[in-house]
Amino acid sequence: MAPPAARPDRQKITCSQVKVSRVTKSTVYLVGAGPGDPDLLTVKARRLLESAEVVVYDRLVSPEIIALIPPGTARIDVGKQPGHHPVPQEEINSVLVALAQRNRRVVRLKGGDPFVFGRGSEEAAALAAHGLRFEVVPGITSASACAAAIGVPLTHRGLATGVRYVTGHCCAEGDIDLDWHGLADPQTTLVVYMAKAQISRIVERLLAQGLSPATPAAAVCNGTTVRQQHVIATLADIAEAAETAAFGGPVLFLIGRVVALADVLAEPAAMPMRAERA
Ligand code: SAH
Repeated sequence: MAPPAARPDRQKITCSQVKVSRVTKSTVYLVGAGPGDPDLLTVKARRLLESAEVVVYDRLVSPEIIALIPPGTARIDVGKQPGHHPVPQEEINSVLVALAQRNRRVVRLKGGDPFVFGRGSEEAAALAAHGLRFEVVPGITSASACAAAIGVPLTHRGLATGVRYVTGHCCAEGDIDLDWHGLADPQTTLVVYMAKAQISRIVERLLAQGLSPATPAAAVCNGTTVRQQHVIATLADIAEAAETAAFGGPVLFLIGRVVALADVLAEPAAMPMRAERA
């Protein structure tokens, strides 16, 4: 794949900062860093981090986990650039390919699980297209981690027969292209990733499809980290509660009857900033 044209507002990322130990075919480890708490890294993720020659990471990886990278290991932050422009995916793919062609141990560290809304499969495909080896190391996805952190099981007998993970990210036309009719199911827990700016729009669509305004819902920001905040409210009130909380980090949105169990299952340390019903 040809490298993308340089743009004046972007600092080009290169792999020149990485010392080449020998020219060999390497394995790139696409590693899930989990939701943020370093204790939720897998043993394998931790081991790979400690033996990597270079770690390529993005903004979802918590500072506490970045701090575990040994001081001598090269780090490449592809989370943002001066001017806050995210590095385009093609450029990240090119960086990984270039590094893999020059290094023995590349760890691509991604928030949560690399294969859940993580674009890890695009990176894997780019590596495969260049004949490079890769291995996916799953991480704890934010759905299970954030739910557990506030005392919510994703399924529970009698409350939810299933769970659906969707993205609230808007498509090019500015709308969220989802099967709202299918999602407005009281028997299923709905987990929306990338929901921060879209909570009121999501609520509107679900109510329009007949989901009860009394359905319990929660929004969790920076789940499992010391910066964790969350709100719990009915579907009717959750958008306002989340706006009042003015979250300053990634937000996961949970909707479904299981959220009511937070009342009984939440750890004392995870007590919510509870939204009062109007
Ligand atoms: N691969 C990741 C998801 C990447 S999409 C995973 O498996 O979790 C990015 C979205 O994940 C964020 O917008 C947010 O919705 C969610 N997310 C990731 N970490 C989170 C955290 N610690 N707290 C709340 N939401 C989180």
